[in-house]
Amino acid sequence: MSDKPVEGIRIYGDPVLRKKSRKVDTLDAKVRELVDKMIIVLKKAKGIGLSAPQIGENLKIFVLEEKFLTGIEGVKVFINPSITEKTGKYLDEEGCLSFPDIIASIERAQSVKVKATDLDGNNFEMVVSDLYARAIQHENDHLEGVLIVDYLSPLRKTLLSRKLRKLAQGVCNES
Ligand SMILES: [Zn+2]
Repeated sequence: MSDKPVEGIRIYGDPVLRKKSRKVDTLDAKVRELVDKMIIVLKKAKGIGLSAPQIGENLKIFVLEEKFLTGIEGVKVFINPSITEKTGKYLDEEGCLSFPDIIASIERAQSVKVKATDLDGNNFEMVVSDLYARAIQHENDHLEGVLIVDYLSPLRKTLLSRKLRKLAQGVCNES
């Protein structure tokens, strides 16, 4: 995670991050344009994943940089994703492009089965584990308005409160 927010990424405090995203009805030019933009921002941020609300659109879309997850070059696009199975649990540290400089320890399912649609309109289903499963759960949370701070213990939240306040104020100062 870098300290400086990447241009175009909405930061904690922005209300768009707390809204529930709506389903994509048609894969039209507007959706394609949005996905293109998401991929550009993801690459620029050198992030693992990015959801549509993080660039200001409350639509059920996220993208994952497969290079960091499988070693294979390419960005995977998930449209209208749904996690249909979760198995196991493990704790690990997680960052978020909307929370520069903040790391949270979060318990997630070890493996998930996810269903989604790709940019060509094909439905797909995959079972993934570990970091890949974590990334899917993290991005899927964004589509529900859930953020990494929601998993913090009260103590950790108190310890981070100044940092979080500063982040949220940064948003207010800009607008
Ligand atoms: Zn995130």
